[in-house]
Amino acid sequence: MVVEFIFVGTELLLGNIVNTNAAYLSEKCAGLGLSCYYQTVVGDNESRLTGILQTAMDRSDIVILSGGLGPTEDDLTKEVAAKVCGKALYMHEPSRKALESYFAERGIELTDNNWKQAMMPEGAIVLENRNGTAPGAIIETDRAKVILLPGPPGELYAMFEESAVPYLTGLTKEVIFSQTVKLCGVGESKAETVVKDLIDAQTNPTLATYAKIGEVHIRVTAKADNEKNAGKLVAPVVKELKHRFGKAVYTTEEDTTLEKAVVELLASGGLTVTCAESCTGGLLSGRLINVSGASDVYKAGFVTYSDKAKHRLLGVKKSTLKKHGAVSSRTAREMAQGAAREAEADAAVSVTGIAGPGGGTQEKPVGLVYIGCSVRGKVTVKKYQFSGSRSKIRESAVAAALTLLRKCVIEAS
Ligand code: ATP
Repeated sequence: MVVEFIFVGTELLLGNIVNTNAAYLSEKCAGLGLSCYYQTVVGDNESRLTGILQTAMDRSDIVILSGGLGPTEDDLTKEVAAKVCGKALYMHEPSRKALESYFAERGIELTDNNWKQAMMPEGAIVLENRNGTAPGAIIETDRAKVILLPGPPGELYAMFEESAVPYLTGLTKEVIFSQTVKLCGVGESKAETVVKDLIDAQTNPTLATYAKIGEVHIRVTAKADNEKNAGKLVAPVVKELKHRFGKAVYTTEEDTTLEKAVVELLASGGLTVTCAESCTGGLLSGRLINVSGASDVYKAGFVTYSDKAKHRLLGVKKSTLKKHGAVSSRTAREMAQGAAREAEADAAVSVTGIAGPGGGTQEKPVGLVYIGCSVRGKVTVKKYQFSGSRSKIRESAVAAALTLLRKCVIEAS
């Protein structure tokens, strides 16, 4: 089955909004085992949308459109889709009633143009919108199935999960099951080299690697007549990946992030943690505290951006700062030690570096970061050289700090 996406919206073409629906739908459909060869962004223009929808229906089995279902004049996706599919629009009573109560509940006046959202193509499967006013629709034709989803991500995600996924999985007799092996501390090219033979030999299950900042995810996907059998095909490959990557695998659970894995690891070891951050300015603490249950392990955080703060709050020696500089192995070490001491925590992570774009020198270039980690008094410091924008360097430093903390805690246990 081949799926194709059309993202409707002049704002997308102008770069006013980022097409995050593209990343979401692409990843989800790949996970369902659907192949995707084309994606198009088109403005709110009737003739161009008509042309691209006709093309898409000729070359793909399923066409998913996002955006343009709203009440305004330039929202024309449904009207165009109905026309291309040869379906008339009619007033869909349940959607009309849902619109009425949506506005009544919020005490908002329902303007006349809103009724257009309850007009549906004849014979279409109507998809309820729990998070907004515009329902979605599935129009089935001999050429292709056309799925209309709203543009706002919060509405699209919920509708896709609740309505489109069961529909798409029902189209094929096969069940698709996938599991993701998540790695930290391993680069994408290294990871690909390690699994190259498995990728080359893949048929069912298939393997795909995805690079994230500081992480690599390997998704293993199998097709079978039922979920149990698909799971049986996936399990030995996941086992092999765990064997090949060892401790670099931080989870195989879909909803576990690196920070969640780290918080769980600390909690299981009965360890508390603190962070001393310079160039990451609280990002590391933010990621840890984002995990529900962080209060069991997280004690305090220090954002010590200036030399003075590093000295006053963490006790980094003035002589260290003078001799080695704020971005140095020695400073990272003293920051971690000082944070552990001041917060009375079992573990401490420190980050000091040059996020750029200015401030780099030949000796200490932009992207140079030292990360220190103290676990029950044993201190490890590592030097990193990251690249990219200021925010990418800061994100990379946070991922590396979580990875180093995880490694040190595992080694200490
Ligand atoms: P509404 O009922 O809100 O009008 P709609 O289905 O008509 O929804 P659009 O009007 O095309 O959708 O877009 C509404 C908003 O949804 C946009 O302003 C933007 O914030 C967001 N949006 C639309 N398309 C995308 C996309 N591809 N990726 C991310 N966000 C998007």
